Amino acid sequence: MAISPAYARPQSTEAAFTCGACKGTFPRAQAAGNLYVCPGCDAHSRISAHERVRQLADRGSFEEWDGELAGRDRLGFVDTKPYVDRLQEARERQGLPDAILSGSASIEGRPVGLASFDFGFLGGSLSTAVGERLARAIERSADERRPFVCVTSSGGARMQEGVFSLMQMAKSVAALHRLAETHVPFISILADPTMGGSIASFAALGDVILAEPKAMIGFTGARVITQATYEQLPAGFQTSEFHHARGLIDQVVDRRQLRTVLGRLLAVLGAQTSEDARRLA
Ligand SMILES: [Zn+2]
Repeated sequence: MAISPAYARPQSTEAAFTCGACKGTFPRAQAAGNLYVCPGCDAHSRISAHERVRQLADRGSFEEWDGELAGRDRLGFVDTKPYVDRLQEARERQGLPDAILSGSASIEGRPVGLASFDFGFLGGSLSTAVGERLARAIERSADERRPFVCVTSSGGARMQEGVFSLMQMAKSVAALHRLAETHVPFISILADPTMGGSIASFAALGDVILAEPKAMIGFTGARVITQATYEQLPAGFQTSEFHHARGLIDQVVDRRQLRTVLGRLLAVLGAQTSEDARRLA
């Protein structure tokens, strides 16, 4: 899926922040202080993985895992430009080896394994390196008995890696199965957008699934469905609120409340996890 130019990149160093929804312009410091939720219309702007971790992890608690894990161009893929060039540009722009950041952290004082997708890196798409880093983060969370928290913002499969990308769906799901066997919880947070192979695999498997307001969540985009079926789609189709009303999502949470909600969930689930660990011992 294409990256919408309507969304200003929050990690920009420009002095002003322009909201992609209402086009209002605000001082960057004001937008940053509001966690890049528009001060005018409450639209939740897309944010980088680094910014997400900064917002969620207790200050100074984040320690990166597998930061050396970078993908490569297995297929020699070239469209309007070589895939290797796209990778290099994205790395320089986003300050990440690929479209995910992962590590250990604490949230409201509770230890977690934390992963965040970076939509600015080739649409947060699921490359071999992203899938591997995600699977390793899940496995390490299981080993260290840390609840696993993943924030997804992803267009789905990485087209330039073909079937190797699709295999990451199975790999991440298998890792989550092992996590479930150890009775360590997985909290999945869906941010705008969570589409295609991401929602069709790991992102939909949270023990608790939260979503940010008005995030687009779905397998195939609405335009493609309309063109294929000639059906009129219902209002609000594929938004967080639409899915919440139908039971896919447990709670739609304003970004400014996300840390607090996670803290409460981790308190409840952490107690349960310890109880399970005692029983399994
Ligand atoms: Zn706005």
